Amino acid sequence: MELMDQIDFDVLATNPVFQLATCCLDDVLARDAGECVICLEELQQGDTIARLPCLCIYHKSCIDSWFEINRSCPEHPSD
Ligand SMILES: [Zn+2]
Ligand SMILES: [Zn+2]
Repeated sequence: MELMDQIDFDVLATNPVFQLATCCLDDVLARDAGECVICLEELQQGDTIARLPCLCIYHKSCIDSWFEINRSCPEHPSD
C-alpha cells in the first residue's frame, strides 16, 4: 500500500479551495499511465508526474509550464 494512493482525491476535486491551493501533487509514477496530453509523450513508470485534483496526470515539468499560462487542467477547462 502506498500512502499517496490513500489521498481522498474526491474531496480535493469537489473543494474549490483545494483545487487552486493544491494545483498539483508531485508524485513518481508507479505504473504506465497513457500519454501526457501536453507533450503527447507516454507517461512511464518512474517519471516525475503531477496529479491534479481532477485525477489527470501529466509530467511535472509539462504541467508546471502549462500553469504559467493557464489556470486549469488542459482536459478540464473550468471556465
Ligand atoms: Zn508531458
Ligand atoms: Zn483534468
